[in-house]
Amino acid sequence: MKESIEQTRSTMLPYGKQWIDEDDIAAVVQVLQSDFITQGPAIERFERKVADYVGAMYAVAFCNGTAALHGASFAAGIGPGDEVITTPITFLASSNCVLYTGGKPVFADIDSETYNIDPNDIERKITKQTKAIIAVDFTGQPAEIDKIERIARKHNLLVIHDAAHSLGASYENRMVGSYGDMTMFSFHPVKHVTTGEGGVIVTNDAALFERLRLFRNHGMTRDSHNMTRNDGPWYYEMTDLGYNYRMTDMQAALGFSQMDKLDSFIERRRQIAAQYNKALIDMPGLVLPYQHPDTSSSWHLYVVRWDESCFSVGRNQIFNDLRAENIGVNVHYIPVYKQPYYSKLGYEDNQCAEAEVYYNTAISLPIFPLMSEQDQDDVIHAVTKIYNRYRIK
Ligand SMILES: *Cc1c(COP(=O)(O)O)cnc(C)c1O
Repeated sequence: MKESIEQTRSTMLPYGKQWIDEDDIAAVVQVLQSDFITQGPAIERFERKVADYVGAMYAVAFCNGTAALHGASFAAGIGPGDEVITTPITFLASSNCVLYTGGKPVFADIDSETYNIDPNDIERKITKQTKAIIAVDFTGQPAEIDKIERIARKHNLLVIHDAAHSLGASYENRMVGSYGDMTMFSFHPVKHVTTGEGGVIVTNDAALFERLRLFRNHGMTRDSHNMTRNDGPWYYEMTDLGYNYRMTDMQAALGFSQMDKLDSFIERRRQIAAQYNKALIDMPGLVLPYQHPDTSSSWHLYVVRWDESCFSVGRNQIFNDLRAENIGVNVHYIPVYKQPYYSKLGYEDNQCAEAEVYYNTAISLPIFPLMSEQDQDDVIHAVTKIYNRYRIK
């Protein structure tokens, strides 16, 4: 069959995008017309809604997910001399948050099938300095928590979940956010629901909750139990070095309204993933996303790997050709230790073998609730076209 010379689409389809409707807009306008546009009642309402949804006791909203992870690193007490084990196949923030508080990120390799952190390699990387594990639920599929929790208990480590991809996902029917010491959700527009910029830490630990709130607001307290003295009603004390990492009420109101749509958004993501699976299953050389039987993903990303032995060109050419069809493919992620800043800190390149193989072969296809059937057909059409162009066996 001769290949169509026509471009699949005339406009670029992004890999992810928000879905804002009239209810969301009305919710933000209502805050703008109210007395408080920041530090008002919308924050706690949003925090309560996220905590209740995931089944956690407490939630603390931050101005973005990265600030939230910084807060988690602070609340966990991570500082100079402490090591924290995380995955290299993640966004920079999962590891940078450890650097922010003076700790040392240590990278454990990924599992070759789920692409999540490999619990066996976590065990190998543990030293006397190890204080915590930051597990990332990559693509929306929860990391193997039963094994990670066993390791954490054995070595007395905290477990922080970077769940930027996995709001609404579950592991053996346990909702992401209901387990672990702290869990971070991001509300960036490519994530499941958005506040523009935003992040939340959920926890079941009252002491961590207090530390997170302190850190978000300059390390300041007005709680007389935590002050050395009390000069009067105006009085506050700064007990730790915190930041202004607060979310505004406009953002919180948007998030509250968006949370009402979360289940339908996830349902739509699952449908898109199922449709990709069905369309691409009989294409040897394409490695579709493996799902561990204990997990139920919320499908932030749909990653396809192109087995290098099956194509006449490498991933980069395939990527460029898909972009030329106006399919907004992406690569998630460059192994963090490869970043020039990390090299400067002394991190060796190529230190995780599976992460390297993954990085050289992965392409993320567009997936977001607002995608139309036509958009999805376009992706399948373009992938099939490029697949046939370069397939050698
Ligand atoms: C989006 C994301 C974050 C946090 O990002 P913000 O843009 O700061 O909200 C952290 N980790 C991962 C894996 C992410 O995808």
